[in-house]
Amino acid sequence: MRIVLIGPPGAGKGTQAAVLSERLHVPHISTGDLFRDHVTRRTPLGRDAQRYLDTGELVPDTVTVGMVRERLARPDARHGFLLDGFPRTVPQARELTTVLAATGATLDAVLELTAPEDVVVQRLLSRGRPDDTEDVVRHRQRVYESRTAPLLAHYAGILVTVPAVGPVEDITARALAGLTEAGAA
Ligand code: AMP
Repeated sequence: MRIVLIGPPGAGKGTQAAVLSERLHVPHISTGDLFRDHVTRRTPLGRDAQRYLDTGELVPDTVTVGMVRERLARPDARHGFLLDGFPRTVPQARELTTVLAATGATLDAVLELTAPEDVVVQRLLSRGRPDDTEDVVRHRQRVYESRTAPLLAHYAGILVTVPAVGPVEDITARALAGLTEAGAA
């Protein structure tokens, strides 16, 4: 199955994606992880992306879409995936539809994780990634609201919304129940 995870930074997308990917037997593809890997390996793409990651801005769509297109072409993603952190803009979503349509595929569901802003900000500040300073964390929330939240309307027909507060395994159970009900798991 082909699933996209959406939610504000700190909603626990990465945590849930790791668990769900095992349960559903599809690869977990995180654009944040892909970018951080490029930065660590000091590739040209990593050098271009670094300043966006450092400030919490979105990496330009052309760079991001090219990287995702390449990742989705790998054999392990042919029969399904859990996309974490992509798409993050409406143009990225349109590109994803086009990439999938080339092989006759479509998304099965978009899983939205919701949590109040003070909860997600606290989670991020205790996580300690280099881009988890208070200013950058707050900026990433604003970027989510203005650039990514419009995707919720775009995907209204296949949206599964799950409250992401409480124990990790309760959230996973809610997500699996929602995806099953939507016919996606
Ligand atoms: P994340 O690990 O999902 O929190 O992403 C970390 C950072 O990577 C973000 O703050 C952006 O700078 C960049 N990033 C990740 N995914 C995308 C995307 N789909 N489009 C643009 N930038 C992204």
